[in-house]
Amino acid sequence: MPKTYNELYIASRQTLREAGIEAYALEARLLLGLAAGKRQEELLRDLQLYASTAIEQKLEALCRRRAAGEPAAYLTGRWEFCGLELRVTRDTLVPRSDTEVLVERALPLLRAPGAVQRVLDLGTGTGCIGLALAHFLPAVRVLLADKSPAALAVARENAERLGLSGRVDCLLLDMTKPPDPALGSFSMIVSNPPYVRSAELAELDWSVRGYEPREALDGGADGLRFYRCILQHHLPLLRQGGWLLFEVGEDQAGPVLALMRRAGLLSLSTARDSAGYERVVCGRKTE
Ligand code: GLN
Repeated sequence: MPKTYNELYIASRQTLREAGIEAYALEARLLLGLAAGKRQEELLRDLQLYASTAIEQKLEALCRRRAAGEPAAYLTGRWEFCGLELRVTRDTLVPRSDTEVLVERALPLLRAPGAVQRVLDLGTGTGCIGLALAHFLPAVRVLLADKSPAALAVARENAERLGLSGRVDCLLLDMTKPPDPALGSFSMIVSNPPYVRSAELAELDWSVRGYEPREALDGGADGLRFYRCILQHHLPLLRQGGWLLFEVGEDQAGPVLALMRRAGLLSLSTARDSAGYERVVCGRKTE
């Protein structure tokens, strides 16, 4: 018996729900769209139409992979961040809504009038943070940096797809080493570096540790390795009056603020994510 798109949607939503997927309804719609080769608005329009068995089988296979833990973003190859559709591959972390808090905190700091604003996004992955800032602030120039050539290719593709490549550059860069001073100075440095303690990687959810790149998660023994590297090597690139914003793990705001204070940053503050954790820390370089 052929099934309608609506029946396929209801069945896959049920499968994902039983597998414990939190956003089961949203993800069922995304996977159905992928299996059918339809955009979400086309799916809505076609809900009462019959789907082919090929589409039904494709959807079942996708739901099985999702139920086994594979993130929906890797199945669709696309994920939304700050309202922007980004390409995502297994070379990059999946952009998280927690990271949108960093963008919200950064935007008003860059809206101040004055010199050309340049932003450096360290460990950019998909490019999500830097690209969102470039998208919302048409006067800002952004440098997306990552040590993974494969991730940087994804970031570059995203910059092009979003029509931002005129103001966004991509650079291979290892955060643990001093940068080339020819990079010039920046009005803001942002980073969501790897921050999971190495010993805790094994405790992460299977959908994270089984699929997302370990190099994007592993923050060393105490999880703070890359905050130290950035403060040591990259702070000199920040202009006087410039801002540094980090995403941090749930229990890291205190220790990272202490590192920032020791590095001489002032106007220190934090911003909370939707679960109430201090997810973003912010400091300013001033005399
Ligand atoms: N928020 C991610 C997680 O806990 C970690 C991201 C990171 O290390 N920057 O799965």
